[in-house]
Parts: sequence; C-alpha cells; structure tokens
Amino acid sequence: MILIIGAGLSGLVTAYRLKQAGIPFKILEARTRIGGRINTVKGSSGIPVEMGATWFNESHRNLIHLLNELELHAFEQYMEGTVFYQPNATGSVQEIELPAQAPSYRIDGGSSHLIHVLFSKLDPEDVLLNQNVTHISFEENEVKVVANDTFIGTQVVLALPPKLWAKNISFEPKLPQDLLATSQETHTWMEDSIKVALTYKNPFWQEAKQAGTLFSNGGPMTEVYDHSNRERSTFALCGFMSTSFKALSAEERQLAVVRQLQNTFGTKATDFLEYHECIWSQEPYTFATNETLLFPHQNNGNAIFRKIYFDGRLILSSAESAAEFAGYMDGAVAAGNLTAEKILKASAI
Ligand SMILES: Cc1cc2nc3c(=O)[nH]c(=O)nc-3n(C[C@H](O)[C@H](O)[C@H](O)COP(=O)(O)OP(=O)(O)OC[C@H]3O[C@@H](n4cnc5c(N)ncnc54)[C@H](O)[C@@H]3O)c2cc1C
Repeated sequence: MILIIGAGLSGLVTAYRLKQAGIPFKILEARTRIGGRINTVKGSSGIPVEMGATWFNESHRNLIHLLNELELHAFEQYMEGTVFYQPNATGSVQEIELPAQAPSYRIDGGSSHLIHVLFSKLDPEDVLLNQNVTHISFEENEVKVVANDTFIGTQVVLALPPKLWAKNISFEPKLPQDLLATSQETHTWMEDSIKVALTYKNPFWQEAKQAGTLFSNGGPMTEVYDHSNRERSTFALCGFMSTSFKALSAEERQLAVVRQLQNTFGTKATDFLEYHECIWSQEPYTFATNETLLFPHQNNGNAIFRKIYFDGRLILSSAESAAEFAGYMDGAVAAGNLTAEKILKASAI
C-alpha cells in the first residue's frame, strides 16, 4: 500500500497513474477538499473564478499532455482591446495598447475541473479528507503514518510543498540534515499571494473594447484580468492584490478594490454580483512561516528532492520538486508522473 500525503495536483496525478497500473494506495489529505493550491470557486451566482492556479503556456508540455490524455480543453486568456496601466501609486491610470505577446491559456471549466476529472478516475474511498499528517516513521518492513487515524504502508509520497512537511511533520528516524535545511528554505510558490475576483452580469469592459486588464503599481490590485468562461456566457474580473492589504479587514479590502476598479473601469465596475478573495498566507495547509527571507522559487527544483531516501520508501514530490517549471501546475504534473514511475519501477523488482 502506497500512502500519498496531499490531494493536490501532484498527489492526484500519482494516484491516477498508480490506479492505471493496479497498485493500491490511499491519499491522506488534511483539508476537507481536494485540489490544494487549485481551487475554482462558484459562490451563489454559480460563476466560476480561480482562487488558485489559473494560467499555463505552450512550454508546459507535461500539463498539456495530461489535459489531452484526459480529453480536457483549454482556451486563450481574453486580451482583446486596451489595457490599463498605473505606473506609480500617486499617478493616474493610463489606457494603453499592449504589443502582441505569446498567449497564456486557461483550463475550460476551471482549473478544478482537471482536479475533479482526476478524482473521478479513482475509487472515492481511496482519498481520505481531514487527515492532517503529523508523524511518519520508517520501521523495519513498513512505514507508519500518523494523521487523525494511523496508516501502515510500504512507501510514502510527500505530495505537499517541502517547507510544509519540513515544518509540520516529524520523521523517525530523522531526515538527513541537509535535506531538512534545504526544505525549510524552499519557497512554496504563491503561498503568500492574495487572489480576488468580482463577478458581473455583463462584460462592460468588453463592450468598451477593453481587455479587462489592469497593471497597477498603486494597488490594492496589482494585476487584473478578464475571467469570463470560454463560452463568454459568465463574466468576471480576477487578479492579485498587494499582500500589504492583508492587515485590513475583509470589508476594507473589498471597499478599496471596488474603489480602484471604479477609478479604472468606471461606475459599472461597482455593479458586481459577488466578491471573492483568498489570502493564501492564512491557509495552514499551504503557507508556513520562514526563518529567513526566501526569494520567489528559492530551491524550487533542487536535485536534493529527487534523491533516494530510506531505500526508496520515502519519495519527495509536489510542484516544488520538479526539475522544470517547479512551483507551477506543469511541475506538479511532472512530479506526479515521476513519482509514479519510481513506484512502478520499485514494484517491478
Ligand atoms: C494563488 C495561486 C496562484 C497560482 N497560479 C498559478 C498559475 O497561474 N499557473 C500555474 O501553473 N501555477 C499556479 N500556481 C501554483 C499551482 O497551484 C501549484 O503548482 C500546484 O497546484 C501545486 O500542486 P501540488 O500538488 O504540488 O501542491 P498543493 O496543491 O499545495 O497540494 C498539497 C496538498 O497537501 C495537503 N497537505 C498539506 N499539509 C498536509 C498534511 N500535513 N497532511 C495531509 N495533507 C496535507 C494540502 O491541503 C494540499 O491539498 C498558483 C498557486 C496559487 C496559490
């Protein structure tokens, strides 16, 4: 029995590959939902918006291959029309035309659609929610994993960011000191970002020949994009808020965002259906504090995560472990695939 810790994209990809090969596993997930850093929310208006991962590009071949395999579709990020740009906090917002650039893509139906399709390929009883893993011990012929319940397996996969397991899970025997130190200094991609979305009945920006894009050095929103669905039948604006606004109350943040959008796009921006936000640094199963300042992607893709530990009974996975595009969905898929390959190889011996 393989024990996979984490039902994010990397853990689900590993599970999907093991299921295809007929190898038994259980996924232990701390949250009450699957998907981890992928979370498409719908609210009462039913309009899907991404609180987590959203975009990919043509170089993300592992992700594209998986989408094709699962017969999922993607569509280009809407960028038709002028964009707004605020060069500094006190300056006014300018309406400009961007030069042509390589497109980025979104997953049709939302990023969580990929998560739910992967889950649909598994037996639901193999994915256990509410299992916050706190201790892992490697015993003579087995691995013991302690969460809300205790599980015994043959191999364990850490499909969660290295900083999280290094800080929140104790290991017996102890992990090598260099691995532990590197993991504690491995940035978890986007762990400290704030995502905000507002849904609308009408795409007023599109009607005004605007892309729905804002790049602002003033804030609160630093980037805003059109977030309508592929069919362009549901409409939203979505983007990133400066992390300095997390000290405000939810009401104050919402007021500041609406005021900024009104100043940028006009009064129609105030006529939204729903406001959504996610402060990822308040998510204990994504964010962990640092002892030292980490720069974005620090130690992501470090080869130490692809070494063999405890005779191959411990496998380090997650997007941050990938050799290429570490931290991104593509890295998560690559890590999930590589982890399954390692398990299949070991089972063939
Ligand atoms: C706001 C935001 C925007 C992003 N935008 C993009 C984007 O546009 N494009 C892109 O490619 N990538 C983006 N990313 C990154 C992308 O989300 C990740 O690369 C990918 O989802 C990581 O998958 P993972 O399985 O490696 O890790 P995670 O999704 O972090 O999954 C780990 C899982 O482990 C669980 N877990 C944690 N601790 C424990 C424990 N102790 N016991 C049991 N379970 C535990 C977690 O709940 C989680 O479900 C974004 C991320 C965020 C947060």
